Amino acid sequence: MDQFDVIVIGGGPAGYHAAIRAAQLGLKTACVDAWTGADGKAALGGTCLNVGCIPSKALLDSSKQFWNLTQHFDVHGITTKDAAIDVKTMIGRKDKIVKQFTGGVAMLFKGNKITSFLGTGKLLQGRQVEITAPDGGKQTIAGTNVVIATGSAPIELPFAKFDGKHIVDNAGALAFDAVPKRLGVIGAGVIGLELGSVWRRLGSEVTIIEALPDFLGAADADVAKVALKELNKQGLKIELGAKLSKAEIKKNEVHLTYAGKDGEKQLVVDKLLVAVGRRAYTDGLLGDGTGVKLDERGRVVVDEHCWTGAEGVWAVGDCVRGPMLAHKGFEEGIMVAELIAGKAGHVNLDTIPWVIYTEPEIAWVGQTEKQLKDAGIPYKTGSFPFAAIGRAVAMNEPAGMVKMIAHAETDRILGVHLVGANVSELVAECVVAMEFKGSSEDLARIVHAHPTLSEAVHEAALAVDKRAIHKMN
Ligand code: NAD
Repeated sequence: MDQFDVIVIGGGPAGYHAAIRAAQLGLKTACVDAWTGADGKAALGGTCLNVGCIPSKALLDSSKQFWNLTQHFDVHGITTKDAAIDVKTMIGRKDKIVKQFTGGVAMLFKGNKITSFLGTGKLLQGRQVEITAPDGGKQTIAGTNVVIATGSAPIELPFAKFDGKHIVDNAGALAFDAVPKRLGVIGAGVIGLELGSVWRRLGSEVTIIEALPDFLGAADADVAKVALKELNKQGLKIELGAKLSKAEIKKNEVHLTYAGKDGEKQLVVDKLLVAVGRRAYTDGLLGDGTGVKLDERGRVVVDEHCWTGAEGVWAVGDCVRGPMLAHKGFEEGIMVAELIAGKAGHVNLDTIPWVIYTEPEIAWVGQTEKQLKDAGIPYKTGSFPFAAIGRAVAMNEPAGMVKMIAHAETDRILGVHLVGANVSELVAECVVAMEFKGSSEDLARIVHAHPTLSEAVHEAALAVDKRAIHKMN
């Protein structure tokens, strides 16, 4: 039986980071992953590279170009006639990008001498891993350490089951062969808003049905309010407090029944994207006697260092507690590899940035105003609109703002909430400041280049102390 220092089950973001870091540290490493591409060959990178972060960003970019071309170019004096989108070319470009990056992980594995196994891994007693290949063939390998990184899968609603054609998950909505005339989306979460935006910008009539009464409850309320207004302006219809009860496929259409604020409603769409969250993917993962426990949501139980409590068995990424974000998985994978190698490792779950790649983008780090209020923590806030930032106006992207929240007594930054152009990049500065336990005064005293969008972060920091320059305080 082949013996390794580290066996990683799952080659998604958390798993491939664990494998590469372990190999860099001189550990004999294997990675077991079952994902295959259209050609039937291994496609490392998991959900993130195959049907998540990267392909969605490719389509968001294509659709943004089309939207700007058809909606915004005239203000620059640029006129176009008969703009059209060829969906096949757009999807082909996305597939090419995916292939480039999944192939990139395979090359990194080769370069780092990581042994790659194509198949589904099952943890057995004594840190053995049984691998079932796509053809059903089985083999067993053994590890001094095993890192579980099996990720997550879309949650399916019993009354709106995925058929891959009319009712789809994120993967399906990344591969439509034409712009659906009418697209229904269940769930105004991250996936619903991003993929709803893609198809809306290409001309689809998009209706998003969200069960909760508040829009983007996890975000700060001020940011959510601005985002909702901007998304509505783009023609995204978002029905809040609406619960789907039935989705029937009839003659190539999906007939929806849902209970809204004004009673029962019907909606007919051509495609339905169900994006109501994801669940940890741990089905069939554990053999008898492994000592690894699952919680009530099927997640692998781990401590703050991603140790399962069973000797030499660790778990990272979407299959454990914490936000289901690729970058959280990256850092957990690296941490575990370093701990296995006898080094220090730590991930601070309190400073994980969130980004939603709508237009405008939404990003945040730390606590919302409501969370602080509920916890009775004294705070002060400062906000600054992009409409007063020269660069944002010159870019024709004046929507949005930066809101900074600091402790009322110590001035330590407790949260930063952003909505606007490129805030996915601006949030990084705020994460660094929070990791270094910075204050709003620290950010206020740091020179920010002019003219840049980062000046909104600077001005929001100044505004905490009521001394923003380009607005009345
Ligand atoms: P989500 O948790 O972000 O949103 C799901 C939404 O569906 C929630 O608002 C919920 O209230 C609503 N909902 C649940 N059941 C419903 C029902 N029956 N009817 C109507 N609405 C209902 O989940 P998601 O958008 O599916 O994304 C899954 C995971 O993937 C998330 O954890 C997310 O963090 C991650 N993800 C992240 C990014 C990113 O970082 N940009 C992008 C895509 C996905």
